[in-house]
Amino acid sequence: MIYNFSAGPGVLPEPVLREVQAEFLSYKQGVSIVEMSHRSDTFATIVEQLEARLRRLMQIPDDYAVLFLQGGATLQFSMVPMNLRESGRFAYLDSGIWSKKAIADAKHYGDVVVAGSSAAVKYRDLPAWPETISDVDYLHVTLNNTIEGTRYTKLPDTGVPIVADVSSNILAEAIDVKRYGLLYAGAQKNIGPAGLTLVIIRRDLIVDRDLPSYLAYSKHVDTLLNTPSTFSLYVAERVLAWVEGEGGVEAMERRNVEKSGLFYDALDASPLFHAVVSGKQRSLTNIPFTTGDAETDRAFQRFAEARGLIELGGHRSVGGLRASLYNAMPLEGVKRLIDVMHEFEQEGQDVSYKNV
Ligand code: PMP
Repeated sequence: MIYNFSAGPGVLPEPVLREVQAEFLSYKQGVSIVEMSHRSDTFATIVEQLEARLRRLMQIPDDYAVLFLQGGATLQFSMVPMNLRESGRFAYLDSGIWSKKAIADAKHYGDVVVAGSSAAVKYRDLPAWPETISDVDYLHVTLNNTIEGTRYTKLPDTGVPIVADVSSNILAEAIDVKRYGLLYAGAQKNIGPAGLTLVIIRRDLIVDRDLPSYLAYSKHVDTLLNTPSTFSLYVAERVLAWVEGEGGVEAMERRNVEKSGLFYDALDASPLFHAVVSGKQRSLTNIPFTTGDAETDRAFQRFAEARGLIELGGHRSVGGLRASLYNAMPLEGVKRLIDVMHEFEQEGQDVSYKNV
């Protein structure tokens, strides 16, 4: 049995993968889903179902549009400032490496006000929400910091639209959509294969601007502007059906609280490993941990890999170890990881960690 702790593309529900495999050669019209026109009625039904499921799961109000785009969350680092630009001043919370990249891209389109930053403490902590913020077009936040393993749980009342990157926590925990002006997420963690990006935007923020067509939100509302990542959309629709069948976002959050709680407890009790993030800011989905020694971390990664636990390396920019516990990671996977950590701790008492 293999358990995949990758931060993304991440683990997907096995029943969905089996269904996709079974349908791959012939989907309804006798051709493969990857050979089918995105303008066919069959495909249009998939997209409609996908949107309907997402709206039900996240309780997305009618005055929000749902857009299915490409270019990853990274393209949203540019599309957000291009499309929401009124005064040309944008506020950002600098809470991690992804928000830093978002800030760098936004600077191409206006003046960025960094409303809070935890860069000085290597993003181990979250910057506080600004007390007041005005004279900016929006305030951008990365709600869950995939690399650093921190997450925001409370939102302030601001007078400006909040834009949130929810790439690594969408559908993993409840997100109150109506508190936001815009949410965006790459699909490749909790939604489906890479190649699909979701944007959920309050309709009054969609303004016709003089932008190249693909880059304008207004050109994507209630239509597929061009050929989308059809396979990703199809799998995403099946994953969302699975989420609904399992009890929706509430059930996912309950499970993720249980899984991450078990893992944090094990880390807090371990004589060898410890969590990088402490306290209330701990992410439910991405958990960086370490022994404090880079070589021992690598030795554990190899030790775990040999036992079927893969992708436990930290992000290449920070090193260490990281377990991503997305919706499709079963509780058994977390229990197995904890057992293997105990085994490693035991063996380490007899032999050098470096030789395992
Ligand atoms: N934002 C966050 C929070 C992420 O976790 C990632 C990727 N893991 C990105 C942005 C970049 O996403 P993409 O690779 O889809 O451009």
